[in-house]
Amino acid sequence: PAELARGDPEVAGALGDELDRVRGRLQLIASENLASPAVLAALGSVLSNKYAEGYPGGRYHGGCEVADRVERLAVRRALELFGADHANVQPYSGAAANMAAYVALLRPGDTVLAMELSHGGHLTHGSKGNFSGRWFDVVSYGVRRDTETIDYDEVRELALRHRPDMIICGAAAYPRLIDFEVFRGIADEVGAWLLADVAHEIGLMAGGAVPSPVPHADVVTFTTHKSLRGPRGGGILCTREVAARVDRAVFPFVQGGPLMNVIAAKAVAFGEALRPEFRTYAAQVVANAKALTEALAEEELRPVTGGTDTHMALVDVRDLGATGVSAETACAQAGIVLNRNAIPYDPEPPRVNSGVRLGTSCVTTQGMGVPEMKEIASLVAQAVREPGAITSVAERVTRLTAGHPAYPRG
Ligand code: PLP
Repeated sequence: PAELARGDPEVAGALGDELDRVRGRLQLIASENLASPAVLAALGSVLSNKYAEGYPGGRYHGGCEVADRVERLAVRRALELFGADHANVQPYSGAAANMAAYVALLRPGDTVLAMELSHGGHLTHGSKGNFSGRWFDVVSYGVRRDTETIDYDEVRELALRHRPDMIICGAAAYPRLIDFEVFRGIADEVGAWLLADVAHEIGLMAGGAVPSPVPHADVVTFTTHKSLRGPRGGGILCTREVAARVDRAVFPFVQGGPLMNVIAAKAVAFGEALRPEFRTYAAQVVANAKALTEALAEEELRPVTGGTDTHMALVDVRDLGATGVSAETACAQAGIVLNRNAIPYDPEPPRVNSGVRLGTSCVTTQGMGVPEMKEIASLVAQAVREPGAITSVAERVTRLTAGHPAYPRG
């Protein structure tokens, strides 16, 4: 905006460059999306100034009438979208939502059963470098070697042996549906809470493209900036039984004043997700991911688990003589933005990896469909396979993004 250019040309220049970067390259980071101008406008609104510790109707600051109205709107829309008993829209991020879920349900030292990081889990699911691994006794389950899908027999055996206080299902790099009902059964068998962390898939759930964990899990955590296409942030859905504990865990235990501008932007995003167009969008994201995965397989990029049910393709790059990091670097040179990722039982160390993860949330927002997915697979494969062809791949990337621009001018 003109005010920023006048007030701080240096930052304005950087933001302009970021817009050019987004427009000019292929955005395939599976955890990203392109929020609407309405969402971005709410983020940059006067509500950024407002302190509103507490919850609507029970704040610790004056002047919260509008903040209350906005937060109630966000909660009401989240409940309409997901059908849960209770929603908390204050978490600053997915990690903060997870921390609040641990606080609500557990005490330090309790046992948690969650997915192994190198098999697709998240840092907050028990990594030693994270609060979860430091303060809780975490037992990890993984995927089977043959199918690369969750080994539900192993989950049950580990649950019976370790008697966890909480089981976490949900992942950061797992392209298949998770059977929440089976997890519920295992949790009930051992008397554990069930936390579903659907940070990645929540938008697909909102759009009815994949099943929801809401009827099965005690607590569901999510992010608003990935497939849901909202502002950067988190959220929690839960049963009536644990609602008060979840609210107290978010504030005052984990967080201070809520980011009211972000909550306004979450309300906008929930409103957008309630529209019929979002159902079409979510279905197309999944159709595109399937088409992309199939086309990548034809290019000798082996899909982990053999395919995808979500917005994500996770592929093994070794048949092209690459590593995750070399593939990521080659793609970056051609203007294709994706990230290296561990594949199950990866022989390479974490900073190298044998796979890359690609998501279709952004390119679908840009209006791309199945034909473009085939082109993207060909671009990725050529960039990885032929270092000498980077310039011609980059030209094709420019043509593709120009035909389906992010944030079209005007
Ligand atoms: N949980 C899962 C499964 C995730 O994939 C992520 C982020 O990638 C998070 C939690 C954390 O979200 P945030 O980065 O907003 O803290």
